[in-house]
Amino acid sequence: TTRNIGFVGLGNMGAPMAINLAKAGHKVAGFDTADITAEGVHMVASAAEAAQDADVVISMLPNGDILRKVASEVLPAMQPGALFLDCSTVDVESARAVAEKATARGLLFVDAPVSGGIGGAAGGTLTFMAGGTAEGFEKARPLFDIMGQKAVHCGDAGAGQAAKICNNMILGATMIATCEAFALADKLGLDRQKMFDVVSTSSGYSWSMNAYCPAPGVGPESPADNDYLPGFAAELMLKDLGLSQQAAEAVDADTPMGALAQALYAQFVQQEDGRGKDFSAMLPRFAGRGRQ
Ligand code: NAD
Repeated sequence: TTRNIGFVGLGNMGAPMAINLAKAGHKVAGFDTADITAEGVHMVASAAEAAQDADVVISMLPNGDILRKVASEVLPAMQPGALFLDCSTVDVESARAVAEKATARGLLFVDAPVSGGIGGAAGGTLTFMAGGTAEGFEKARPLFDIMGQKAVHCGDAGAGQAAKICNNMILGATMIATCEAFALADKLGLDRQKMFDVVSTSSGYSWSMNAYCPAPGVGPESPADNDYLPGFAAELMLKDLGLSQQAAEAVDADTPMGALAQALYAQFVQQEDGRGKDFSAMLPRFAGRGRQ
């Protein structure tokens, strides 16, 4: 059945997700503060306008503060029983706060951050990790099936963000480990293609190496092959590592690798030339350095 979908935040991820929903035959009303067009998506003038006739409102925004602001515009405009599906990566508290406001208005809320990057968004192969009620999850499921290949119902509101934060803490640490290993391999005189051939089929393999190789011209097509244009920006990885450290502190969890990954991305983004680059641009950073 055709649904009216409001889509707020059509950036690197949101635009291809919205396009896939439109392609599948849904009526998509989009809103973004930037001047954006997306094939098959009818762009409107405000978040409230995107929400007013929607059965489901999807958001794909930079952070929790922006999510809270957008929610304050969207929730009052939504019809009772409609679903607010936030696919952004935000802090657990923001997800739970928006869930509470939605529930108080007789609306459904599901936090469903994604993994898979822009390739997954364009190809409709994202993984969704969802938090919320079973009713909300079931209402979202047909849309997950269009935008992704897998959706896991992780628990109550906020559980999707918890899963995402843990996943990306692993991702930040493995990307750094992969990049520093490539830089070491360079200095040992090992060809990058050989390094990929070995590691991608050995116990050092990971998504960072196999699916998103940080070395240009090696492995599948990735932002490294496009001058390290994001992709997944280094500042967004820094954001996610901040979220995992914030969460770790809140529940007294010991995450030293996460802390070091956060410190390295902070240095890269704030003091070096990482801002505006893909998070895999850690490779040229390491390649250009010696021991400290
Ligand atoms: P992006 O910056 O490309 O897109 C965010 C969009 O939100 C922009 O177009 C921006 O103009 C818009 N926006 C900002 N404030 C707004 C407002 N008040 N109202 C409406 N629109 C507003 O970022 P992205 O890469 O698409 O990432 C979006 C989210 O997805 C982030 O939370 C990110 O952590 C997460 N994520 C990204 C990737 C990735 O590979 N890029 C992967 C997984 C998850």
